[in-house]
Amino acid sequence: MNSFGTPPFPQLQYCKRCCMPETNEGIKFDEKGICQSCQSMEQKMHIDWDEREKILRKFFEEAKSKTKGPYDCVVGICEIIKTEKNYSGCPIS
Ligand SMILES: [Zn+2]
Repeated sequence: MNSFGTPPFPQLQYCKRCCMPETNEGIKFDEKGICQSCQSMEQKMHIDWDEREKILRKFFEEAKSKTKGPYDCVVGICEIIKTEKNYSGCPIS
């Protein structure tokens, strides 16, 4: 596996980054032996989060300008507090 040791079950494939074994349900490896979770984390490191926040703020402003009821938008439950605090929105979940 690497200089830190040998895998407990050498017959199994392990992710080269996180050591997740191929027995993990649904796991797939790319040509470099990297699992989807590690690939996803790497993609997130290259996202322009400031630009994404501008898009989100624009979305909220448009939603708030079109609303006629007491709520501005629909968000997932875990995002309610952040939405109210950071975007001055009144969400319903
Ligand atoms: Zn991995």
